[in-house]
Amino acid sequence: MVIQLTKEEQKLVEHAKGAVVKYNKQRHEKGGIDTIYAFVLSDSGKIYDGACLESTIGSGSICAERLAIGSMVLEETYKSKIKIVVTFDPVPAEKEYSSTPCGTCRHVIWEHGTPDTMIICGQYIQRENDWEFLPKMEKYTIKELYPKAYEQVKWD
Ligand SMILES: [Zn+2]
Repeated sequence: MVIQLTKEEQKLVEHAKGAVVKYNKQRHEKGGIDTIYAFVLSDSGKIYDGACLESTIGSGSICAERLAIGSMVLEETYKSKIKIVVTFDPVPAEKEYSSTPCGTCRHVIWEHGTPDTMIICGQYIQRENDWEFLPKMEKYTIKELYPKAYEQVKWD
């Protein structure tokens, strides 16, 4: 399914595609491989990039979404709100659905977003000398992906 994107969403998707190619070229030149990327547009209008950080200790790994959100909080404030998140997942062949943010990331996006924060998920395939972005993408609000958000109980 080819989804309809607003101008703002389209702009973030285009930024994401350019950044995925740029970062993958850099990684390959240094012997690295493709990874999952996430891009966050904050309500300030700034874009923050993130890539999955993998650690040999599982709990040391951090998803691309949370790295991008961490950069947003570092440069702005905890009060900044996420308008849109775009993720791109490397795949060997087209999958029926693109990967969506994991449960922890859904919660962190929820905390730093609004119920209408948009999540756009896509896939890409490494070709001989380039990366192909599959036209099929999915689009959700964070409320759709995380309908029963965890809320900390407040004691008096
Ligand atoms: Zn995650």
